[in-house]
Amino acid sequence: MIIPVRCFTCGKLIADRWEEFARRVKAGERPKKVLDDIGMNRYCCRRMFISQVDVVDDLLRYAQVTAKKRAQFD
Ligand SMILES: [Zn+2]
Repeated sequence: MIIPVRCFTCGKLIADRWEEFARRVKAGERPKKVLDDIGMNRYCCRRMFISQVDVVDDLLRYAQVTAKKRAQFD
C-alpha cells in the first residue's frame, strides 16, 4: 500500500525517503547502495523499504471501474 510514515520497530521517520528510494531502484540502482546513500542503516528500517509493495495505484483503477459500473446500473 502506502509506505508507513515511521519504522514499525524503532520509530525512525522513513516516509520522506521513499520516493527517492523507489525512483532510484526503478532506474536500475541496487537497493543496498540506495539504502546506504539515504542513511537507512538499521535493518529494521531497511526491511520497511525492501518489503514495501506499492499497490495503491492498481487499487485505484478498480475503484474507478467499480464506480463506472455502478453508474451504469443507477
Ligand atoms: Zn527502524
